[in-house]
Amino acid sequence: MSKPVVAIVGRPNVGKSTIFNRVVGERVSIVEDIPGVTRDRIYSSADWLTHEFNIIDTGGIDLRDEPFLEQIRQQAEIAMDEADVIIFLVNGRDGVTTQDEQVAKILYRTKKPVILAVNKIDNPDMRHLIYDFYTLGMGEPFPLSGSHGLGLGDLLDEVAKNFPTEDDEEYPDDVIKFSLIGRPNVGKSSLVNSFLGEERVIVSEVAGTTRDAIDTQYEYNDQPYVIIDTAGMRKKGKVYETTEKYSVLRALRAIERSDVVLVVLNAEEGIQEQDKKIAGYAHEAGKAVIIIVNKWDAVEKDEKTMNVMTRKIREHFLFLDYAPIMFVSAISGKRVHNILEIVNKVNDNHSRRIQSSILNEVIEDAVAMNPAPSDKGRRLRVYYATQVAIKPPTFVVFVNEPEMMHFSYERFLQNRIRESFDFEGTPLRLITRART
Ligand code: GDP
Ligand code: GDP
Repeated sequence: MSKPVVAIVGRPNVGKSTIFNRVVGERVSIVEDIPGVTRDRIYSSADWLTHEFNIIDTGGIDLRDEPFLEQIRQQAEIAMDEADVIIFLVNGRDGVTTQDEQVAKILYRTKKPVILAVNKIDNPDMRHLIYDFYTLGMGEPFPLSGSHGLGLGDLLDEVAKNFPTEDDEEYPDDVIKFSLIGRPNVGKSSLVNSFLGEERVIVSEVAGTTRDAIDTQYEYNDQPYVIIDTAGMRKKGKVYETTEKYSVLRALRAIERSDVVLVVLNAEEGIQEQDKKIAGYAHEAGKAVIIIVNKWDAVEKDEKTMNVMTRKIREHFLFLDYAPIMFVSAISGKRVHNILEIVNKVNDNHSRRIQSSILNEVIEDAVAMNPAPSDKGRRLRVYYATQVAIKPPTFVVFVNEPEMMHFSYERFLQNRIRESFDFEGTPLRLITRART
Protein backbone atom coordinates (compact mmCIF):
# COMPACT_ATOMS: atom_id res chain seq x y z
CA MET A 1 0.00 0.00 0.00
CA SER A 2 1.45 3.37 -0.92
CA LYS A 3 1.89 5.97 1.78
CA PRO A 4 -0.98 8.38 2.29
CA VAL A 5 -0.45 11.95 1.17
CA VAL A 6 -1.31 14.99 3.26
CA ALA A 7 -1.42 18.49 1.78
CA ILE A 8 -1.44 21.82 3.60
CA VAL A 9 -3.40 24.63 1.96
CA GLY A 10 -4.22 28.15 3.02
CA ARG A 11 -3.53 31.72 2.02
CA PRO A 12 0.01 33.10 2.37
CA ASN A 13 1.51 33.77 5.81
CA VAL A 14 -0.85 31.63 7.83
CA GLY A 15 2.11 29.40 8.70
CA LYS A 16 2.00 26.56 6.15
CA SER A 17 5.73 26.14 5.77
CA THR A 18 6.23 26.50 9.54
CA ILE A 19 3.81 23.62 10.13
CA PHE A 20 5.31 21.63 7.26
CA ASN A 21 8.78 21.94 8.76
CA ARG A 22 7.50 20.99 12.19
CA VAL A 23 5.87 17.86 10.85
CA VAL A 24 8.82 16.89 8.70
CA GLY A 25 11.40 17.63 11.40
CA GLU A 26 15.06 17.30 10.61
CA ARG A 27 14.57 14.80 7.85
CA VAL A 28 16.69 15.42 4.78
CA SER A 29 14.60 15.86 1.71
CA ILE A 30 15.70 14.86 -1.73
CA VAL A 31 13.47 17.52 -3.21
CA GLU A 32 15.45 20.17 -1.44
CA ASP A 33 18.50 19.28 -3.45
CA ILE A 34 16.87 19.33 -6.84
CA PRO A 35 17.96 22.34 -8.86
CA GLY A 36 15.15 24.79 -9.27
CA VAL A 37 13.48 23.36 -6.21
CA THR A 38 16.13 24.48 -3.79
CA ARG A 39 14.45 27.51 -2.30
CA ASP A 40 12.18 25.59 -0.04
CA ARG A 41 11.16 22.04 0.20
CA ILE A 42 7.57 21.27 -0.53
CA TYR A 43 7.33 17.49 -0.39
CA SER A 44 8.71 15.13 2.17
CA SER A 45 8.10 11.90 3.94
CA ALA A 46 7.08 12.20 7.58
CA ASP A 47 5.69 10.08 10.35
CA TRP A 48 3.43 10.35 13.33
CA LEU A 49 3.34 7.52 15.85
CA THR A 50 3.06 4.42 13.70
CA HIS A 51 1.86 6.25 10.61
CA GLU A 52 4.11 7.03 7.70
CA PHE A 53 2.94 9.52 5.14
CA ASN A 54 4.07 12.13 2.65
CA ILE A 55 3.31 15.78 3.10
CA ILE A 56 3.04 18.62 0.59
CA ASP A 57 3.25 22.33 1.29
CA THR A 58 1.20 23.62 -1.62
CA GLY A 59 2.29 27.16 -0.79
CA GLY A 60 5.75 26.27 -2.04
CA ILE A 61 4.55 25.71 -5.57
CA ASP A 62 5.40 28.97 -7.20
CA LEU A 63 2.80 30.34 -9.57
CA ARG A 64 4.14 33.85 -9.53
CA ASP A 65 2.75 34.89 -12.88
CA GLU A 66 -0.77 34.14 -11.78
CA PRO A 67 -3.02 36.64 -10.02
CA PHE A 68 -3.18 36.16 -6.29
CA LEU A 69 -6.58 34.57 -6.06
CA GLU A 70 -5.75 32.26 -8.96
CA GLN A 71 -2.65 31.09 -7.08
CA ILE A 72 -4.62 30.10 -4.01
CA ARG A 73 -7.15 28.39 -6.22
CA GLN A 74 -4.47 26.38 -8.03
CA GLN A 75 -2.85 25.39 -4.77
CA ALA A 76 -6.15 24.10 -3.45
CA GLU A 77 -6.63 22.18 -6.71
CA ILE A 78 -3.23 20.56 -6.28
CA ALA A 79 -4.20 19.48 -2.78
CA MET A 80 -7.47 18.04 -4.04
CA ASP A 81 -5.71 16.20 -6.89
CA GLU A 82 -2.75 14.87 -4.98
CA ALA A 83 -3.69 14.38 -1.34
CA ASP A 84 -5.66 11.85 0.66
CA VAL A 85 -6.19 14.27 3.53
CA ILE A 86 -6.11 18.06 3.36
CA ILE A 87 -5.12 20.38 6.19
CA PHE A 88 -6.78 23.74 5.66
CA LEU A 89 -4.72 26.25 7.61
CA VAL A 90 -5.91 29.67 8.76
CA ASN A 91 -4.48 32.36 11.00
CA GLY A 92 -6.36 32.62 14.31
CA ARG A 93 -5.17 36.16 14.90
CA ASP A 94 -6.77 37.52 11.75
CA GLY A 95 -10.21 36.00 12.17
CA VAL A 96 -11.97 34.68 9.08
CA THR A 97 -10.84 36.60 6.00
CA THR A 98 -12.41 36.78 2.56
CA GLN A 99 -9.52 34.75 1.21
CA ASP A 100 -10.13 31.99 3.78
CA GLU A 101 -13.71 31.91 2.58
CA GLN A 102 -12.56 31.64 -1.00
CA VAL A 103 -10.29 28.70 -0.17
CA ALA A 104 -13.14 27.06 1.74
CA LYS A 105 -15.44 27.44 -1.24
CA ILE A 106 -13.00 25.58 -3.46
CA LEU A 107 -12.46 22.85 -0.90
CA TYR A 108 -16.21 22.25 -0.54
CA ARG A 109 -16.01 20.54 -3.93
CA THR A 110 -13.73 17.73 -2.76
CA LYS A 111 -14.86 14.44 -1.30
CA LYS A 112 -11.55 14.13 0.49
CA PRO A 113 -11.37 14.81 4.21
CA VAL A 114 -10.49 18.42 5.03
CA ILE A 115 -9.28 19.27 8.52
CA LEU A 116 -9.40 22.89 9.60
CA ALA A 117 -6.45 24.04 11.69
CA VAL A 118 -6.26 27.46 13.29
CA ASN A 119 -2.66 28.51 13.63
CA LYS A 120 -0.88 31.12 15.80
CA ILE A 121 -2.83 30.13 18.91
CA ASP A 122 0.35 30.47 20.91
CA ASN A 123 -1.14 30.11 24.41
CA PRO A 124 -4.30 28.74 26.04
CA ASP A 125 -5.69 32.27 26.57
CA MET A 126 -6.03 32.63 22.82
CA ARG A 127 -8.09 29.51 22.38
CA HIS A 128 -11.37 31.39 22.10
CA LEU A 129 -10.11 32.76 18.77
CA ILE A 130 -10.91 29.46 17.10
CA TYR A 131 -14.70 29.82 17.45
CA ASP A 132 -14.96 32.37 14.68
CA PHE A 133 -13.82 29.67 12.24
CA TYR A 134 -16.82 27.39 12.68
CA THR A 135 -18.47 29.65 10.10
CA LEU A 136 -16.17 28.21 7.42
CA GLY A 137 -18.30 25.09 7.53
CA MET A 138 -15.36 22.74 7.77
CA GLY A 139 -16.26 21.18 11.08
CA GLU A 140 -14.38 21.53 14.32
CA PRO A 141 -11.29 23.76 14.12
CA PHE A 142 -8.06 22.49 15.70
CA PRO A 143 -6.02 25.11 17.56
CA LEU A 144 -2.36 25.10 16.66
CA SER A 145 0.85 26.97 17.24
CA GLY A 146 3.41 26.25 14.57
CA SER A 147 6.08 28.36 16.18
CA HIS A 148 5.59 26.76 19.61
CA GLY A 149 4.79 23.30 18.34
CA LEU A 150 1.47 23.18 20.21
CA GLY A 151 -1.57 21.21 19.10
CA LEU A 152 0.29 19.32 16.44
CA GLY A 153 -0.28 15.93 18.07
CA ASP A 154 -4.04 16.33 18.17
CA LEU A 155 -4.09 17.55 14.60
CA LEU A 156 -2.00 14.64 13.33
CA ASP A 157 -4.17 12.18 15.27
CA GLU A 158 -7.15 13.52 13.38
CA VAL A 159 -5.26 13.44 10.07
CA ALA A 160 -4.22 9.83 10.63
CA LYS A 161 -7.80 8.84 11.46
CA ASN A 162 -8.73 9.90 7.96
CA PHE A 163 -6.07 7.94 6.10
CA PRO A 164 -7.33 5.43 3.56
CA THR A 165 -7.44 1.90 4.95
CA GLU A 166 -6.32 -1.39 3.43
CA ASP A 167 -9.85 -1.77 2.07
CA ASP A 168 -9.24 1.24 -0.14
CA GLU A 169 -6.32 -0.57 -1.76
CA GLU A 170 -6.24 0.48 -5.36
CA TYR A 171 -5.28 -2.68 -7.25
CA PRO A 172 -5.07 -6.42 -6.56
CA ASP A 173 -1.72 -7.82 -5.43
CA ASP A 174 -0.84 -9.51 -8.71
CA VAL A 175 -0.93 -6.24 -10.65
CA ILE A 176 2.50 -4.84 -11.46
CA LYS A 177 2.49 -1.10 -11.05
CA PHE A 178 5.17 0.80 -12.87
CA SER A 179 5.98 4.35 -13.87
CA LEU A 180 8.23 6.06 -16.37
CA ILE A 181 10.11 9.00 -15.01
CA GLY A 182 12.47 11.38 -16.71
CA ARG A 183 12.80 14.89 -17.96
CA PRO A 184 10.37 16.29 -20.53
CA ASN A 185 10.86 15.00 -24.08
CA VAL A 186 12.92 11.94 -23.27
CA GLY A 187 10.10 9.91 -24.82
CA LYS A 188 7.98 8.69 -21.89
CA SER A 189 4.64 9.06 -23.68
CA SER A 190 6.04 7.58 -26.88
CA LEU A 191 7.21 4.53 -24.93
CA VAL A 192 3.83 4.10 -23.29
CA ASN A 193 2.12 4.33 -26.68
CA SER A 194 4.57 1.82 -27.99
CA PHE A 195 3.70 -0.68 -25.19
CA LEU A 196 0.02 -0.16 -25.66
CA GLY A 197 0.29 -0.53 -29.42
CA GLU A 198 1.58 -4.10 -29.07
CA GLU A 199 -0.77 -6.63 -30.56
CA ARG A 200 -1.55 -8.68 -27.52
CA VAL A 201 -2.03 -5.76 -25.19
CA ILE A 202 -5.54 -5.42 -23.83
CA VAL A 203 -6.09 -1.96 -22.45
CA SER A 204 -8.77 -1.94 -19.84
CA GLU A 205 -11.50 0.63 -20.19
CA VAL A 206 -12.06 0.72 -16.46
CA ALA A 207 -12.39 4.29 -15.32
CA GLY A 208 -9.69 5.55 -13.02
CA THR A 209 -9.69 4.92 -9.32
CA THR A 210 -10.51 7.41 -6.66
CA ARG A 211 -6.86 8.28 -6.18
CA ASP A 212 -5.82 8.83 -9.73
CA ALA A 213 -7.97 8.93 -12.79
CA ILE A 214 -5.09 8.74 -15.22
CA ASP A 215 -3.55 5.37 -14.49
CA THR A 216 -3.59 3.03 -17.47
CA GLN A 217 -4.54 -0.57 -16.76
CA TYR A 218 -3.75 -3.28 -19.26
CA GLU A 219 -2.88 -6.91 -19.66
CA TYR A 220 -0.12 -8.61 -21.58
CA ASN A 221 0.39 -12.38 -21.64
CA ASP A 222 -2.16 -12.67 -18.84
CA GLN A 223 -0.16 -10.41 -16.59
CA PRO A 224 -2.06 -7.29 -15.44
CA TYR A 225 -0.15 -3.99 -15.32
CA VAL A 226 -0.87 -0.44 -14.32
CA ILE A 227 1.14 2.41 -15.73
CA ILE A 228 1.20 5.15 -13.17
CA ASP A 229 1.08 8.47 -14.91
CA THR A 230 3.52 11.29 -14.32
CA ALA A 231 3.03 14.96 -15.04
CA GLY A 232 4.85 14.89 -18.33
CA MET A 233 2.56 12.26 -19.72
CA ARG A 234 -0.92 13.53 -19.35
CA LYS A 235 -2.73 16.14 -21.31
CA LYS A 236 -1.82 19.52 -19.95
CA GLY A 237 -4.88 21.19 -18.59
CA LYS A 238 -4.16 23.05 -15.45
CA VAL A 239 -1.72 25.91 -15.16
CA TYR A 240 0.23 24.36 -12.30
CA GLU A 241 1.01 21.25 -14.30
CA THR A 242 3.69 23.09 -16.24
CA THR A 243 5.60 24.27 -13.18
CA GLU A 244 8.82 22.47 -12.43
CA LYS A 245 8.06 21.87 -8.78
CA TYR A 246 4.79 20.25 -9.60
CA SER A 247 6.38 17.95 -12.15
CA VAL A 248 8.99 16.87 -9.61
CA LEU A 249 6.29 16.38 -7.01
CA ARG A 250 4.27 14.36 -9.46
CA ALA A 251 7.25 12.18 -10.35
CA LEU A 252 7.93 11.51 -6.67
CA ARG A 253 4.29 10.58 -6.14
CA ALA A 254 4.36 8.23 -9.13
CA ILE A 255 7.50 6.57 -7.80
CA GLU A 256 5.88 6.14 -4.42
CA ARG A 257 2.94 4.29 -5.94
CA SER A 258 5.03 2.06 -8.22
CA ASP A 259 6.59 -1.35 -7.79
CA VAL A 260 8.99 -0.78 -10.67
CA VAL A 261 10.36 2.56 -11.84
CA LEU A 262 11.66 3.02 -15.37
CA VAL A 263 14.17 5.85 -15.38
CA VAL A 264 14.08 7.10 -18.96
CA LEU A 265 17.12 8.86 -20.43
CA ASN A 266 17.46 10.50 -23.79
CA ALA A 267 20.40 8.98 -25.65
CA GLU A 268 20.87 12.19 -27.59
CA GLU A 269 21.18 14.42 -24.55
CA GLY A 270 22.95 12.21 -22.07
CA ILE A 271 22.57 12.33 -18.32
CA GLN A 272 21.53 15.39 -16.38
CA GLU A 273 21.55 16.27 -12.71
CA GLN A 274 17.79 16.03 -12.34
CA ASP A 275 17.80 12.49 -13.77
CA LYS A 276 20.10 11.48 -10.95
CA LYS A 277 18.12 13.18 -8.22
CA ILE A 278 14.85 11.58 -9.20
CA ALA A 279 16.49 8.19 -9.72
CA GLY A 280 18.01 8.61 -6.26
CA TYR A 281 14.55 9.01 -4.88
CA ALA A 282 13.41 5.76 -6.51
CA HIS A 283 16.38 4.04 -4.88
CA GLU A 284 15.63 5.55 -1.47
CA ALA A 285 11.99 4.62 -1.75
CA GLY A 286 13.13 1.02 -2.21
CA LYS A 287 11.61 0.52 -5.65
CA ALA A 288 12.82 -1.81 -8.38
CA VAL A 289 14.58 0.27 -11.05
CA ILE A 290 15.32 -0.16 -14.75
CA ILE A 291 17.34 2.40 -16.69
CA ILE A 292 15.97 2.92 -20.19
CA VAL A 293 18.08 4.73 -22.76
CA ASN A 294 15.56 5.87 -25.35
CA LYS A 295 16.07 7.38 -28.84
CA TRP A 296 18.87 4.89 -29.47
CA ASP A 297 17.92 5.13 -33.17
CA ALA A 298 18.99 8.76 -33.24
CA VAL A 299 22.55 8.10 -32.08
CA GLU A 300 25.37 7.52 -34.48
CA LYS A 301 27.08 4.42 -33.21
CA ASP A 302 29.72 1.81 -33.72
CA GLU A 303 30.35 -1.38 -31.79
CA LYS A 304 31.73 0.56 -28.80
CA THR A 305 28.97 3.11 -28.33
CA MET A 306 26.78 0.97 -26.11
CA ASN A 307 29.65 0.09 -23.78
CA VAL A 308 30.73 3.70 -23.51
CA MET A 309 27.20 4.79 -22.65
CA THR A 310 26.82 1.94 -20.15
CA ARG A 311 30.02 2.96 -18.41
CA LYS A 312 28.90 6.58 -18.28
CA ILE A 313 25.57 5.60 -16.76
CA ARG A 314 27.26 3.40 -14.16
CA GLU A 315 29.55 6.29 -13.21
CA HIS A 316 26.70 8.73 -12.81
CA PHE A 317 24.27 6.37 -11.12
CA LEU A 318 26.63 4.67 -8.69
CA PHE A 319 23.84 3.87 -6.27
CA LEU A 320 21.88 2.08 -9.00
CA ASP A 321 24.53 -0.51 -9.77
CA TYR A 322 21.83 -3.18 -9.56
CA ALA A 323 19.60 -1.63 -12.23
CA PRO A 324 19.55 -3.22 -15.68
CA ILE A 325 20.19 -0.82 -18.56
CA MET A 326 18.21 -1.13 -21.80
CA PHE A 327 18.78 0.65 -25.09
CA VAL A 328 15.53 1.15 -26.95
CA SER A 329 13.72 3.24 -29.51
CA ALA A 330 10.11 4.18 -28.97
CA ILE A 331 9.91 5.41 -32.55
CA SER A 332 11.14 2.27 -34.29
CA GLY A 333 9.80 0.04 -31.54
CA LYS A 334 13.16 -1.60 -31.25
CA ARG A 335 13.50 -3.67 -28.04
CA VAL A 336 10.45 -1.95 -26.55
CA HIS A 337 8.71 -5.31 -26.22
CA ASN A 338 11.63 -6.54 -24.10
CA ILE A 339 10.91 -3.87 -21.52
CA LEU A 340 7.92 -5.71 -20.08
CA GLU A 341 9.94 -8.89 -19.80
CA ILE A 342 12.49 -7.03 -17.72
CA VAL A 343 9.74 -5.34 -15.72
CA ASN A 344 8.39 -8.81 -14.83
CA LYS A 345 11.82 -10.02 -13.92
CA VAL A 346 12.83 -7.17 -11.63
CA ASN A 347 9.38 -7.24 -10.08
CA ASP A 348 9.93 -10.92 -9.23
CA ASN A 349 13.32 -10.08 -7.77
CA HIS A 350 11.83 -7.22 -5.78
CA SER A 351 9.44 -9.66 -4.13
CA ARG A 352 11.88 -12.55 -3.80
CA ARG A 353 11.99 -14.37 -0.45
CA ILE A 354 15.03 -16.36 0.58
CA GLN A 355 14.65 -19.21 2.99
CA SER A 356 16.51 -18.57 6.23
CA SER A 357 18.54 -21.78 6.08
CA ILE A 358 19.86 -20.98 2.61
CA LEU A 359 20.48 -17.37 3.47
CA ASN A 360 22.48 -18.39 6.52
CA GLU A 361 24.66 -20.73 4.51
CA VAL A 362 25.60 -17.77 2.36
CA ILE A 363 26.23 -15.52 5.36
CA GLU A 364 28.29 -18.19 7.17
CA ASP A 365 30.42 -18.75 4.08
CA ALA A 366 30.89 -15.02 3.66
CA VAL A 367 31.97 -14.56 7.26
CA ALA A 368 34.30 -17.57 7.11
CA MET A 369 35.91 -16.26 3.95
CA ASN A 370 36.26 -12.71 5.20
CA PRO A 371 35.81 -12.24 8.96
CA ALA A 372 34.92 -8.75 10.13
CA PRO A 373 38.08 -6.82 11.06
CA SER A 374 38.67 -6.42 14.78
CA ASP A 375 38.72 -3.04 16.41
CA LYS A 376 40.76 -2.44 19.61
CA GLY A 377 40.70 -6.12 20.40
CA ARG A 378 36.97 -6.46 19.85
CA ARG A 379 35.50 -8.19 16.88
CA LEU A 380 32.11 -8.02 15.24
CA ARG A 381 30.47 -11.41 15.41
CA VAL A 382 27.75 -12.21 12.94
CA TYR A 383 25.33 -14.78 14.34
CA TYR A 384 22.63 -15.20 11.75
CA ALA A 385 20.43 -13.38 9.27
CA THR A 386 16.82 -13.52 8.26
CA GLN A 387 14.71 -11.86 5.59
CA VAL A 388 12.03 -9.75 7.21
CA ALA A 389 10.39 -8.06 4.22
CA ILE A 390 10.06 -7.88 0.45
CA LYS A 391 9.63 -4.88 -1.86
CA PRO A 392 12.47 -4.26 -1.28
CA PRO A 393 14.01 -7.43 0.13
CA THR A 394 15.08 -6.52 3.64
CA PHE A 395 17.39 -8.58 5.82
CA VAL A 396 18.10 -8.36 9.50
CA VAL A 397 21.59 -9.44 10.49
CA PHE A 398 22.00 -10.34 14.16
CA VAL A 399 25.41 -9.52 15.63
CA ASN A 400 27.09 -9.06 18.99
CA GLU A 401 27.57 -5.28 18.71
CA PRO A 402 25.74 -3.42 15.93
CA GLU A 403 27.89 -0.30 16.28
CA MET A 404 30.86 -2.37 15.11
CA MET A 405 29.21 -3.08 11.77
CA HIS A 406 30.99 -0.88 9.25
CA PHE A 407 29.54 0.30 6.00
CA SER A 408 32.14 -1.60 4.03
CA TYR A 409 31.40 -4.89 5.78
CA GLU A 410 27.70 -4.40 5.32
CA ARG A 411 28.39 -3.77 1.66
CA PHE A 412 30.42 -6.97 1.51
CA LEU A 413 27.60 -9.04 2.97
CA GLN A 414 25.14 -7.40 0.63
CA ASN A 415 27.31 -8.23 -2.37
CA ARG A 416 27.57 -11.84 -1.26
CA ILE A 417 23.77 -11.99 -1.06
CA ARG A 418 23.54 -10.52 -4.55
CA GLU A 419 26.03 -12.99 -5.94
CA SER A 420 24.10 -15.90 -4.48
CA PHE A 421 20.56 -14.94 -5.49
CA ASP A 422 18.97 -13.05 -8.34
CA PHE A 423 18.25 -9.57 -7.07
CA GLU A 424 18.90 -7.73 -10.30
CA GLY A 425 16.94 -4.51 -10.46
CA THR A 426 16.06 -4.27 -6.80
CA PRO A 427 17.73 -2.42 -3.95
CA LEU A 428 18.41 -4.50 -0.83
CA ARG A 429 18.22 -3.37 2.75
CA LEU A 430 20.37 -4.71 5.51
CA ILE A 431 19.53 -3.93 9.10
CA THR A 432 21.97 -4.80 11.86
CA ARG A 433 20.55 -5.78 15.24
CA ALA A 434 22.03 -6.95 18.50
CA ARG A 435 21.07 -10.50 19.32
CA THR A 436 19.11 -10.42 22.53
P1 GDP B 1 3.09 30.38 4.85
O1 GDP B 1 3.21 31.53 3.90
O2 GDP B 1 1.66 30.01 5.06
O3 GDP B 1 3.95 29.22 4.53
O4 GDP B 1 3.55 30.94 6.30
P2 GDP B 1 4.96 30.82 7.05
O5 GDP B 1 5.13 29.45 7.61
O6 GDP B 1 6.02 31.35 6.18
O7 GDP B 1 4.69 31.77 8.28
C1 GDP B 1 4.36 33.13 8.12
C2 GDP B 1 4.77 33.91 9.37
O8 GDP B 1 4.00 33.48 10.49
C3 GDP B 1 6.23 33.68 9.75
O9 GDP B 1 6.76 34.90 10.17
C4 GDP B 1 6.13 32.69 10.91
O10 GDP B 1 7.21 32.82 11.80
C5 GDP B 1 4.84 33.09 11.56
N1 GDP B 1 4.20 31.98 12.28
C6 GDP B 1 4.02 30.71 11.83
N2 GDP B 1 3.40 29.97 12.78
C7 GDP B 1 3.18 30.77 13.84
C8 GDP B 1 2.57 30.58 15.13
O11 GDP B 1 2.11 29.51 15.49
N3 GDP B 1 2.51 31.65 15.96
C9 GDP B 1 3.02 32.86 15.58
N4 GDP B 1 2.93 33.85 16.46
N5 GDP B 1 3.61 33.09 14.39
C10 GDP B 1 3.68 32.05 13.52
P1 GDP C 1 7.92 12.83 -22.96
O1 GDP C 1 7.81 14.30 -22.73
O2 GDP C 1 9.03 12.24 -22.15
O3 GDP C 1 6.63 12.10 -22.79
O4 GDP C 1 8.39 12.64 -24.49
P2 GDP C 1 7.53 12.31 -25.80
O5 GDP C 1 7.13 10.90 -25.83
O6 GDP C 1 6.46 13.34 -25.92
O7 GDP C 1 8.63 12.50 -26.92
C1 GDP C 1 9.28 13.73 -27.13
C2 GDP C 1 9.80 13.80 -28.55
O8 GDP C 1 10.80 12.81 -28.75
C3 GDP C 1 8.72 13.57 -29.59
O9 GDP C 1 8.96 14.45 -30.65
C4 GDP C 1 8.96 12.12 -30.03
O10 GDP C 1 8.57 11.90 -31.35
C5 GDP C 1 10.47 12.00 -29.88
N1 GDP C 1 10.87 10.62 -29.58
C6 GDP C 1 10.35 9.81 -28.64
N2 GDP C 1 10.94 8.61 -28.67
C7 GDP C 1 11.86 8.65 -29.64
C8 GDP C 1 12.80 7.69 -30.17
O11 GDP C 1 12.91 6.55 -29.73
N3 GDP C 1 13.61 8.12 -31.18
C9 GDP C 1 13.51 9.37 -31.70
N4 GDP C 1 14.34 9.67 -32.68
N5 GDP C 1 12.64 10.27 -31.23
C10 GDP C 1 11.82 9.94 -30.23
